Amino acid sequence: MTTRFKAGLALLYVLTACQPDGEVGPGGSVKPAPTELRVLLQETEGLLVVSCPAGALITDDFDKTIYTVPPGYDLVFKRNEHGVLSINGEWQRCTWVTIVPQGGEDDPPRLVVKGVPYRGSLVVRSTATGTLQAVNRIEVEEYLRGVLPEETYANWSLEALKSQAVVSRSYALARLSENPDAPYHLRADTSSQVYGGFFSEDPRTDEAVAATAGEVLAYGGRIVTTFFSSCCGGHTAAIDDVWPDVERRSFFAGVECGWCSASPNYTWEYSLDFSRLAHALAAAGYTVENPTGLRLRTNTRTGRVRFVVFTFASGEELELPGNELRRLLGYGELRSTFFEIARYDEDGLVFVGRGYGHGIGLCQWGSRGMAEAGFTYKEIINHYYTGAGIAQWDALWPVEPRPTS
Ligand SMILES: [Zn+2]
Repeated sequence: MTTRFKAGLALLYVLTACQPDGEVGPGGSVKPAPTELRVLLQETEGLLVVSCPAGALITDDFDKTIYTVPPGYDLVFKRNEHGVLSINGEWQRCTWVTIVPQGGEDDPPRLVVKGVPYRGSLVVRSTATGTLQAVNRIEVEEYLRGVLPEETYANWSLEALKSQAVVSRSYALARLSENPDAPYHLRADTSSQVYGGFFSEDPRTDEAVAATAGEVLAYGGRIVTTFFSSCCGGHTAAIDDVWPDVERRSFFAGVECGWCSASPNYTWEYSLDFSRLAHALAAAGYTVENPTGLRLRTNTRTGRVRFVVFTFASGEELELPGNELRRLLGYGELRSTFFEIARYDEDGLVFVGRGYGHGIGLCQWGSRGMAEAGFTYKEIINHYYTGAGIAQWDALWPVEPRPTS
């Protein structure tokens, strides 16, 4: 009996393991679109600590439960030079484990990493580069509840929050579709989207997520990797204004905004002395000693500075992408590439500019302005992503390979 039972399990495993994503399986069913994200929460060369306020189960890389963790316990992970994990001082036979939180109605399942509680489960893995990673496995709709309050203002109009929900969902699922099997699809910081976990959640942003469940931005039957920024200053950027090598598509060509003048960064001024500029550029290997002139190469339609060109007495020039200048001076200092130089002399420079952020895609302050003027989130999306539309993620899966021509 035992032998037959095991044989049955083995057969089941072979059947499921041989069914690739998105293909029609037995009975004609299509495997549903993946919705579980993997978000990197922490990466360290030292110890990694996970707290389990309501208890947890730990399973190994064969999905076998190896520990039951009582409520209130901390788990301390470390790795040896072969990448093997130890948990609270006990060496394991694996390089990664999954921690599934326990809990109930009054005590929601969650795990705590660096003082922040998260929904979903957690993978702790030892990497080939000598680090330990904590990766949150979380359903996209739950993930968005921890993103929206960080990426927008929960007290803004609901239609603006709904437009952000669609944009943030599209960004996350597009990243997932690029490489579903990657150890992680997203980081929890500004390099992807800021994800604050359980404590960040707010009933108003939760409502916006629920009201748009499953909706993403689509173009030509494919999900769009969306971009957004705080304030465009009156006209959004073309994608190649910021990243010259990226192909311009209709939905990233730049549009007039006219809705974001309430932003505190709608206009700004930034002064710096020449030695500070030279120092910032020298740190990146650029020499700008004694330039004789400075000119801007600007996309006159979008207002964005594509290149800043320094000229020297020798006749040589240094051409620096506008976005690179922002990176070197600090994105919070030179707030956008939508600027002019108001003054340039031996004392330094004065930039006068508009907006905050790269300016591509949704203008968040603009979405607020449109929502307050009575536009719906679909109208907001249509305005900022010309030619793209809203579709259900399920209907776009499986994602076809991008055409090569
Ligand atoms: Zn705007």
